[in-house]
Amino acid sequence: MNEITIIKPDDFHIHLRQGSDLEYYAKESEKQFKRGIIMPNTVPPIVTVNDVNRYRDEILKVTEGFEPLMTFKILPDSDPGIISELKQNKVIAGKYYPAGATTNSEDGITDWKIMKPVLKEMEKHAMVLSIHGEVPDSFLLNRERDFLPILDEIHRTFPKLRIVMEHVSCKESIDYINSAHDHVAGSISLHHLISTIEDVINDTSIKCMPIPKTPEDREAIRFAAFSGNRKFFFGSDSAPHKVEGKIGFNPKSGVYTAPVILPKLAELFYENGVLDKLENFVSVYGARFYKLPLNREHITVIKKPMIVPDEMYGVRPYLAGSEISWSLKN
Ligand SMILES: [Zn+2]
Repeated sequence: MNEITIIKPDDFHIHLRQGSDLEYYAKESEKQFKRGIIMPNTVPPIVTVNDVNRYRDEILKVTEGFEPLMTFKILPDSDPGIISELKQNKVIAGKYYPAGATTNSEDGITDWKIMKPVLKEMEKHAMVLSIHGEVPDSFLLNRERDFLPILDEIHRTFPKLRIVMEHVSCKESIDYINSAHDHVAGSISLHHLISTIEDVINDTSIKCMPIPKTPEDREAIRFAAFSGNRKFFFGSDSAPHKVEGKIGFNPKSGVYTAPVILPKLAELFYENGVLDKLENFVSVYGARFYKLPLNREHITVIKKPMIVPDEMYGVRPYLAGSEISWSLKN
């Protein structure tokens, strides 16, 4: 098979940035994705109905057929009273960042129990809880594993709340999600399917949170994606940072994968003999979990090499300078 046409995918975790940068990143994602779940950890964060509607309008203004699916950031003082209004304004998920876990999360949550009134309202209004699941004080490689008891506690306290453990990065998360009720799902990024901690040490431009881990963890993540398991779907966590922020001491966390996602996924799934599983992973399972209709548009990827640019808009994209054996069909 030298080409494949699939339902145009959804990116269930995307950072489009703000201001003058927004247009470039939104247009780049729009080439491959019909919809995207827009992360709210901007500065200032997206927390109110006004924030959501303003940010959505900004995205719609610079794109053509792209549908931004909006989220809000849960803060320690979030008012449970706004959940129903957020829901009426088509907010699809609330995002829980443990304080200090990743970029712009200093204002996040220290003890999850403080969110209980908000989570109760979210459960009532069928809003999804999306989680950056790491314990920031743990050792880097254990942060996600150490978060799983918290995830389990939330799930047991609010069994009807749909929860997405975002960008899963370790085997224990995969095992937990598999063993949990159908209301718990996991999103998987491109870079956690490809990179390990060794790659990050060799190229800090791909540093991101959660950090890619061991080959065994990567194997478990691949198995979840390749086996056609509907509890796992694609979310890129593509997060561009300008080159100057990615060098020197403590480089910023986030990797800009958006420009290479579908070509690289097609290459990976093809090489592993599971190209037939790609469409469900990027275009079906996530939509089902979020209770969204499937997209009507289609996109074709062909077995034709592309070279990833060294730099795009001042950002070093993921896999910069390398050749990918698949590309988008124009
Ligand atoms: Zn993210």
